[in-house]
Amino acid sequence: MDSPVYYIIVAMMFASFTLSVIFFLAWKTQGEKPYALSWSISFLAAFFQWFFNLQSDWFSVHETYWLTVNALTMVLITLGIRGHCQRTNCVRFPANLWPYAGVVYAGIVWTTVVEPHVGVSMAIVPATACVTLFLSALMIIRHRDVSRPAEWAAASSMVLFGATQGIAAGMALMQGSGGDADYQNLYVHYNFLTLPSGYMATGMFVIFMLASDLSEQMKDIAVRDQLTGVLNRRGLAEHGAAAYANARRNETPLTVILTDIDRFKIINDDFGHTSGDKALVHFSELLIEGRRAEDILARIGGEEFALVLRGTNLQDALRMADDLRIKIEATPISMDGVQTCMTASFGVATLSETDENLADTITRADRALYRSKRAGRNQVDLESSQMMLALDGSLKPLTA
Ligand code: GH3
Ligand code: MG
Ligand code: MG
Repeated sequence: MDSPVYYIIVAMMFASFTLSVIFFLAWKTQGEKPYALSWSISFLAAFFQWFFNLQSDWFSVHETYWLTVNALTMVLITLGIRGHCQRTNCVRFPANLWPYAGVVYAGIVWTTVVEPHVGVSMAIVPATACVTLFLSALMIIRHRDVSRPAEWAAASSMVLFGATQGIAAGMALMQGSGGDADYQNLYVHYNFLTLPSGYMATGMFVIFMLASDLSEQMKDIAVRDQLTGVLNRRGLAEHGAAAYANARRNETPLTVILTDIDRFKIINDDFGHTSGDKALVHFSELLIEGRRAEDILARIGGEEFALVLRGTNLQDALRMADDLRIKIEATPISMDGVQTCMTASFGVATLSETDENLADTITRADRALYRSKRAGRNQVDLESSQMMLALDGSLKPLTA
């Protein structure tokens, strides 16, 4: 009771329980993500592990106590890394980690009761923790092309914690097979010095990572059109501003294609609003098909969409717009069992020297779209005022 270790274990028990509840609530309230549940159960196992640490005198045989506590620790470790596999969809990892955990646990049983070796028996868990923490950190960092501060923080804390666990394993091993009171003392002191901070830092940074995931999801919802899943006006403003700045900085072309479905009102009137919605999704899918990852597609009005093409000049964009026009006309959609074809009109404009932002380019593309509509629809118009016809028959920007 007087030992400071007692108070540390109580604190660890409380911390584990708190983390378990936090991850349970995260699971319950944030779309029942399987990794949140894995971590909740993982920290629950940790809670019981610390509880049995505290109540070690309940066990009449030391081996029973040792195997119980280690079984719980293996559950905690396995679910911990499983959660990271689930969150990062790591395909390189086996889907079922329990057989591996079973083999490690068999090692603990072997070195505890069959062929007792105090050093190895005590080193297996911290060594496993070290390996799984390193692997989890690797999964977190490799999960995204560009890791966020939350990921770097979580991965760093795991690497640090993993390293301390590796050292702990080394200290445990130094006891040899028969055990050594001095080394055991050193191991216990070192572990109680590093475990609480490692536990808390890793747990809290993982929570921070989940919070970052959530804020990213919220942000994504705010910039996306619910019906078609493409960007909305706000999304276009954000991504468009970045594309504009990039084009200015690198002096690369940037071209806007605006498109609007022809006589969409008739589709709504003939087939109803739900079919109209279906037609909008179909239209957006045709627009996005075959696009490069850096191209921006946004729904900027009821049935009006904008494509912002980085590094694409007016001539290529014109060809692209006309290909899209033909594809849309030629791809029927079934509405109420009736195969219906839509057509759309297009307006194209490219970033000019006088444009102060992307909105200026969009305004010109909109004027071109308006002309397409007035000229009879199902056609592509361009911001011709900024183009000239070269001798070889190709179009060249006037500014070039
Ligand atoms: P135009 O060829 O001149 O573009 O004719 P239009 O009928 O397509 O043009 P207009 O802009 O007058 O009509 C657009 C229609 O799109 C009106 C509106 O009811 C419909 N609309 C807007 N948003 C949605 C939507 O989310 N779902 C459905 N089903 N219809 C929508
Ligand atoms: Mg229309
Ligand atoms: Mg319209």
